[in-house]
Amino acid sequence: MDNKKIRFVLVETSSGGNIGAAARAMKTMGLSDLALVNPCEFRTYECYSRASGAAELLDDALVCDSLEVAIADCSLVIGTSARLRTLSWPQIEPHEFEQSFSAAGADAKIAVVFGRERSGLTNSELALCSQLVVIPSVEGFSSLNIAAAVQVLAYEVRRISLRAGAQPVSAPEKTPPGELPAVHEELEHMYKHLESTMVNTGYLDPDNPRMMMPRFRRLFNRAGMNRSEVQLIRGLLASLQKAANRIKAGS
Ligand code: SAH
Repeated sequence: MDNKKIRFVLVETSSGGNIGAAARAMKTMGLSDLALVNPCEFRTYECYSRASGAAELLDDALVCDSLEVAIADCSLVIGTSARLRTLSWPQIEPHEFEQSFSAAGADAKIAVVFGRERSGLTNSELALCSQLVVIPSVEGFSSLNIAAAVQVLAYEVRRISLRAGAQPVSAPEKTPPGELPAVHEELEHMYKHLESTMVNTGYLDPDNPRMMMPRFRRLFNRAGMNRSEVQLIRGLLASLQKAANRIKAGS
């Protein structure tokens, strides 16, 4: 497995010390792609001293102002949470990373997203994730320090790399472009297209959306679409829209 394909994203972390400790935790496990969404001031003494020898992760961190930007080029986005959520999102345990990663395909860029120290991830941020990983801690005291959660999940990634390293390596086959996993940005364009077509054809009432878009998102997320499948759906939507326009023009 190529560790460069795995990005850890920290959302609105409020302590520079935690960011530094998270960078150190990542580096010990061979990870280097760190993204920070609206972080606190982190170029501080405390942050760099907690990072210890992992300063380059902080120097090279992708700093962005929204989670959408941090995951735009990722085709598998896994959220993390200290507690079970009411919305029944596909939920995995850390040891199931391997299955999720291999289902996403060798070319997939993967994001693991961590929430705020106090409040975790919002529901709309979780909606951008296709799976949720929960570290099984004790009941009643389930919330780990964010850098500790980063360490546990980085270790799971490390274990996958070690297992992969122990297996004979065969020459990788080149994936045809259409079979590459669709990235987040392509999927978001498809969802916008789906929503507007459903509104235009009268299937979705914007005043009474009935969770239609989150339900479609969950369905498509489960499918793990590749690029040509996204084009297939968009072609269908375009033809439905055209037919609806013809009917409107004729009436
Ligand atoms: N009250 C918050 C806790 C936030 S802890 C909540 O309920 O979500 C800060 C972050 O550390 C979380 O957003 C998550 O990214 C990570 N984290 C903490 N405990 C975790 C656990 N048991 N499993 C997975 N991630 C965890």
